[in-house]
Amino acid sequence: MTRTPVAMRRMLAILLLCALLAGCSGKPADPASAEDTHAHPEGEAHEDEAAAESTRITDAQARAAGIVSAAVGPGTIADEHEVQGLLAPVDGRSAQVTARFPGPVRALRANVGDRVRAGQPLASIESNLSLTTYSIAAPISGVVLSRQVQLGAVAAEGQVLFDIGDLSQLWVDLHIFGADTQHITAGVPVTITRMTDGITQTATLERVLPGTATASQSTVARATIDNADGLWRPGAAVRARIVVASTPAPLAVPLTALQSLEGKDVVFVREGDTYQARVVQLGARDARQVAITAGLQAGEQVVVEQSYTVKADIGKAGAAHEH
Ligand SMILES: [Zn+2]
Repeated sequence: MTRTPVAMRRMLAILLLCALLAGCSGKPADPASAEDTHAHPEGEAHEDEAAAESTRITDAQARAAGIVSAAVGPGTIADEHEVQGLLAPVDGRSAQVTARFPGPVRALRANVGDRVRAGQPLASIESNLSLTTYSIAAPISGVVLSRQVQLGAVAAEGQVLFDIGDLSQLWVDLHIFGADTQHITAGVPVTITRMTDGITQTATLERVLPGTATASQSTVARATIDNADGLWRPGAAVRARIVVASTPAPLAVPLTALQSLEGKDVVFVREGDTYQARVVQLGARDARQVAITAGLQAGEQVVVEQSYTVKADIGKAGAAHEH
């Protein structure tokens, strides 16, 4: 049941692309004009015996439809783990600003959210002991996270006036479960994705913390990210992809090359204007590519972009032959 909307969307996309592909070739279907120079997507231009699995698309048509081919070659298949995590302030990079002597607050010079520099005056307090006004400065550079005093209020000795956090870098605490705890080790690359806008940042996994969280039975793997734009917010959830290992594959194609035809995995091999479906045996895959263990040879031209357009065109060609 959950598959239905996906299948329908895919079908709609294919129908739409069929219409586009047919539309970009102005001539009506005419067997007499369907010579080498012009392959009409209506299905007249391909050989009968290959009707169900190949089609002809001119360079101009391919360009218009965004169909791109590339030579098959070696690739690298990554062992990747998708995990979730939370952003947290880096320990030791926050500070509390406190009153040294008790007395009324005479001036407040920073608000929540302000960026302040170390040494910048944040408040003035009139000391009840000396009856002179003293200034309190920010102990570190950072952002004012909270202000806990009002103008005119009497601050007690040691009372917290401000919390300041240096959020220029943040920890990313990623949650790892079960056997992955042994599998994922420090030093491997991790790509972190911000949920709010999909912006990603690459970092290195610095350490896997020794403990296990009792409630979730997860172990925390930690990385540090830069927060130059200030939009990585402590407490926010993130997605991350940890690349544990990369294995070379003699032949690999992008996942975008892969299609299913009559229940078989196929890619489309281009020779000139002819695009032929080729059944392939698949090996390991990652988020971007898949190893090919049989069915292709190095150097063959394979459709790597808009392969579903080629599939739709082949499907259409096959259908046209049935009447
Ligand atoms: Zn793994």
